[in-house]
Amino acid sequence: MLAAGSGLSVACTAHDPGKITVGVKFDQPGLSVKRPDGTLGGFDVDVARYVAGRLGYPPERIAWIEAPSGQREMLLRNGQVDYVVATYSITDSRRQKVDFSGPYLLAGQSLLVRADDTDITGTASLQRHKRLCSVSGSTPAQRIKDRYPGVQLQRYDTYSACVEALRNNAIDAVTTDDVILAGYAAQSPGAFKLVGDRFSEEKYGIGVQKGNESLRRRINDAIEQMEHDGSWRAAFIDNFGAAEFAVPDPPPIER
Ligand code: GLU
Repeated sequence: MLAAGSGLSVACTAHDPGKITVGVKFDQPGLSVKRPDGTLGGFDVDVARYVAGRLGYPPERIAWIEAPSGQREMLLRNGQVDYVVATYSITDSRRQKVDFSGPYLLAGQSLLVRADDTDITGTASLQRHKRLCSVSGSTPAQRIKDRYPGVQLQRYDTYSACVEALRNNAIDAVTTDDVILAGYAAQSPGAFKLVGDRFSEEKYGIGVQKGNESLRRRINDAIEQMEHDGSWRAAFIDNFGAAEFAVPDPPPIER
């Protein structure tokens, strides 16, 4: 946890005072994945590491905690993490519980189906009794519930569990942000494809404890620095591949 006197201290409970504790996903290839050897990699991890560095914490002084979609606010509110970099969309309802730095990336909701599926071409096809998987506590699951009431939505704890269910024919499609789905598709060449257009705008922010304005501001400074010194672009190319996506401009930071 951030040491008292660093000027950044959140009202955290526990942990090693010499370390900063960061919440990330462990199972989202391209964004944030824990490899079999225990190391972490991905765009969110690169952003999280860069920010930690700017706050004075080298990589060996970062403690990583898994932050599944449904637990992010809770982890921040309980002081179990200093900040969360976990494909975490900035929304008004989340802002009632936590604060956000950023945004540092834009994504949008989409659909992943099996590569041989010719039936599902977009959200309209889901109304035909298709079984759709998303994750508890995520904005995509909420959007389906609110806007597509005819869809059979199954909520799992992680997107990787949804993707395995898709592979095994237990469900017909997975929905979440396109960057996440593209990561799973790239990991299993020939197995899956994205279909339809983006149907939301997800602005990825870095979650901090509500009211910790000094940390929120210093993380904004770090993101800005990452964008200016070329590290943001390098991380994008490294994790998403220059060939498949044109490198976008980073979204403006909301101070
Ligand atoms: N960005 C969306 C969210 O924050 C979906 C991705 C996720 O669940 O991490 O809920």
